[in-house]
Amino acid sequence: MSSAKQAAGRAAELRKTLEQASHDYYVLDRPQLSDREYDTLFRELQQLEREHPALRTLDSPTMRIGAEPATTFAKHTHLVPMISLDNAFTDEEVADWAARAVKIAGDLVNTAGFCAELKIDGAAVSLTYRDGVLVTGATRGNGTVGEDVTTNLRTIRGIPLRLRSEGYPAIIEIRGEVFFPFDSFERLNDERAKAGEPVFANPRNSAAGSLRQQDPAVTASRPLRFFGYAFAVPGTANLPFSTQTELLESLAAWGIPVAPKRKWCRTLAEVYSYAHAIESTIRAELNFGIDGMVVKVDSLALQTELGVVGSRVPRWAIARKFAPDIVETRLLEIRVNVGRTGKINPYAVLEPVEVGGTTVQFATLHNFELIKQKDLRVGDVVLLHRAGDVIPQILGPVPEKRDPKHPPPAPKIPTKCPSCGTPVRVDEKDLFCENDYCPGRRLEALVHFASRGAMDINGLSYARIEQLVEYKLVGDASDLYTLTPDAIGGLERFAEKSSQSLVDAIAASRAQPLSRLLFALGIRHVGAEAAQLLARTFGTMDAVAAAGLDEIEAVYGVGPAIAASVFEYFRNNQNQKLIERLRKQKLNFTEPQKAEVSSVFKGFTVVITGTLPTLSRSDAKDMIQAAGGKVTDSVSKATSLLVAGTDAGSKLDKAKMLGTEIIDEAELLRRLQR
Ligand code: NAD
Repeated sequence: MSSAKQAAGRAAELRKTLEQASHDYYVLDRPQLSDREYDTLFRELQQLEREHPALRTLDSPTMRIGAEPATTFAKHTHLVPMISLDNAFTDEEVADWAARAVKIAGDLVNTAGFCAELKIDGAAVSLTYRDGVLVTGATRGNGTVGEDVTTNLRTIRGIPLRLRSEGYPAIIEIRGEVFFPFDSFERLNDERAKAGEPVFANPRNSAAGSLRQQDPAVTASRPLRFFGYAFAVPGTANLPFSTQTELLESLAAWGIPVAPKRKWCRTLAEVYSYAHAIESTIRAELNFGIDGMVVKVDSLALQTELGVVGSRVPRWAIARKFAPDIVETRLLEIRVNVGRTGKINPYAVLEPVEVGGTTVQFATLHNFELIKQKDLRVGDVVLLHRAGDVIPQILGPVPEKRDPKHPPPAPKIPTKCPSCGTPVRVDEKDLFCENDYCPGRRLEALVHFASRGAMDINGLSYARIEQLVEYKLVGDASDLYTLTPDAIGGLERFAEKSSQSLVDAIAASRAQPLSRLLFALGIRHVGAEAAQLLARTFGTMDAVAAAGLDEIEAVYGVGPAIAASVFEYFRNNQNQKLIERLRKQKLNFTEPQKAEVSSVFKGFTVVITGTLPTLSRSDAKDMIQAAGGKVTDSVSKATSLLVAGTDAGSKLDKAKMLGTEIIDEAELLRRLQR
């Protein structure tokens, strides 16, 4: 067979697969392929067509957008076609895109700056406003013709039925993305699983599916949201902006919700580092799915000059795609372990899968009540979500991938501690082992004690602690300080040198401040922050131990549950003995007193948003807390102050709406000086 013939055969095969996938994805909202798989096949077809131009047909998926609109809704022809975006999976591919644009529009592309926006993973829609009033809302469909889903779109809170302020053209189509926030998506899937309905594969498909409901009441019952990012007007209109950045500002001024975290980047290098920041950290903080970042040439004049390739993708924008953060995998086993507080934790063993940039094999399942609610069964195909450094989470099963004839049984709830066999106590949703001497609990307590946020003992890994416990060299934390290189040198994998450095590292941890030691003790409810508040307030271990319940409760930021737990901890005989043993081992029982701190923010609840010019967020947080303030994540009526940096998004808008006082970094520093 000639290679041309082979290519033709492969192209036909790819077209068939891609067309079916598009139908499943856009029309049925039930993708059978992952986006990565789809994109790889799509690229293969593009490559084949590039090498063999004769193979290019007008109906090839590479020439079209989306899928034909489903027939049940009235059709809507867009004023100006809605386009898609080309993809770049690496920085090099973004550089290639920019180089191609420079070839057409010259070096201006490199100097006029780029607008970087989150690539919202939702369903593209177009909203037509006539004299500022929403008259039509439609899906993208095949780009030229979409479905008229006006009644459904009107139910979405956040889409203004009338534009605010002035300066909008008489007819304007505002383009954007309808999406499902993660928290509501999980709730919806839990409810569907409970009702025996198939769960949605991801928030994107549930958004698209919700939009195309015949009954607008169903759409209304789903908390969809909308972000706008583009507009279209017929012919040429006098527009009050000349860059993408200004366009987004105008949309926001007209009352259209605009996605947070947009950023003007002067150079491509800035674009790369921002893409990295979004993928590695910002993505995990968002309550909605993104599958990348869109990079746009900021100048609208340059955008016009660059134009569109065919009718499918613009030359002035590129989607920098990220590794997927929701994937399917198989639940192989449900195991349990016992934590240091005695809580019995079920966790999932999964078929290893790459998600959010790393390979995941385990995921916590929290408790058996949740397993029941989600109806998870061993052997199920499940949806796994992981973004940034966040712990991987199972969203739910994909019940239609279950063998209907032989559905796996519901998992058994343990009645005994997996470590010591003591019968479990059921406390609301959780199971507990109440044996204080349970080896599993002791092991976890030691692991916590040595962990980075606690005593930070270098080299004392989980596996090593397991060995030390197994050989009965260590029972509780105080025993660690009695270890000698000789005692541990004989253990497997402990070379002479590493035994000495481990003993040194343990010895060095004696100097850790009281705040770390308090956290390391693993007192119920006492996290690193509460430990710090207690250590700073009382100064010494003995003062914390002697404090009355009222005194502990009076510490700003310490609630009644923490206070009760701390009070009880120091009244327990076992714990008192441990503290004495630690004292004998000469651990530091004091907190270094900071230089006289002001309490200018006492009683203040502060939110920090955007990028501050010189301070990192955590530094700003520390400083505010040191001055008596409380720092929270979201703006509400209880917020006293918003510290806003550049690229502040929805928090700033909300603070303005609520009339919250807003200050910048300079003002923050000035007040801290007081
Ligand atoms: P796309 O999702 O790759 O990118 C284009 C779209 O991004 C735009 O149309 C717009 O709706 C959206 N977007 C989000 N934020 C934006 C912003 N700030 N500015 C501009 N646009 C923004 O392209 P597409 O045409 O919607 O879909 C193609 C993609 O869909 C493929 O890459 C593939 O991953 C997926 N797909 C998957 C399957 C499957 O079977 N899994 C099938 C078909 C398509």
